Amino acid sequence: MKLIALPAFSDNYIWLLHNDQHALVVDPGDSAPVLSWLEKNPSVALDRILVTHHHADHTGGLPELVAQTGAQVFGPALEKMPLPAQGLQQGDMLEWQGLTLMVHDVPGHTLGHIAFWLHPPGQAPILFCGDTLFSGGCGRLFEGSPAQMLDSLDRLAALPDETRVCCAHEYTLSNLKFALVVDPENLALKSYAQQCMQLREQNQATLPGLLSTERAINPFLRSRSPTVTLAVQQRDKTAIDDVSSFAALRNWKNEF
Ligand code: ZN
Ligand code: FE
Repeated sequence: MKLIALPAFSDNYIWLLHNDQHALVVDPGDSAPVLSWLEKNPSVALDRILVTHHHADHTGGLPELVAQTGAQVFGPALEKMPLPAQGLQQGDMLEWQGLTLMVHDVPGHTLGHIAFWLHPPGQAPILFCGDTLFSGGCGRLFEGSPAQMLDSLDRLAALPDETRVCCAHEYTLSNLKFALVVDPENLALKSYAQQCMQLREQNQATLPGLLSTERAINPFLRSRSPTVTLAVQQRDKTAIDDVSSFAALRNWKNEF
């Protein structure tokens, strides 16, 4: 299986997975990058489209892609899609090309947001997490509560270390700027930030990230660590437990 990040809009990635014959895409906010990739790879047919949540930058390309390819669409059972889609939720398993994709409910950014995890044989596992987990950050809470988002991130963080984290946006550098203010003594974070800056200077994606790296550097996965908790509490007296600390951290980032 080959994994490709197709850039879309200013900072979205549409993830494409293929085996030289069949392809699936995740969160096609725009059909154009996918159609032009398919044109350059005429032996590959798009037969699946996966959607993590209802926002337009993740669903805008659906009508055109379905019209052009006839691909089947799968999306969150609890959210409205721009066209009919098969609904998925926690515990559902989706078979595709000999692979099993596991569905996780990850409410927070939106209420019905789902994520997909799969483990291609002989390769590192893959997580398509939409706008829930970003490298060095997490999605804004448009619909869900801090408690829901914390729980969703806890469940993603429990996936295997070597999982490749396929986020839907290239927000890494701005997330790391904030992370370095919250957690300035974190050596793993400092060296990861250096590495990501170099990648962006060469116009390369910082993604997919590694889940083990995210656990070491992402303040939203480390909101219970003594350093992050202390930094949050010094700024916000309402941070008195896990959920309120996470909420205060998310508010801090919103104002950053
Ligand atoms: Zn979104
Ligand atoms: Fe988005």
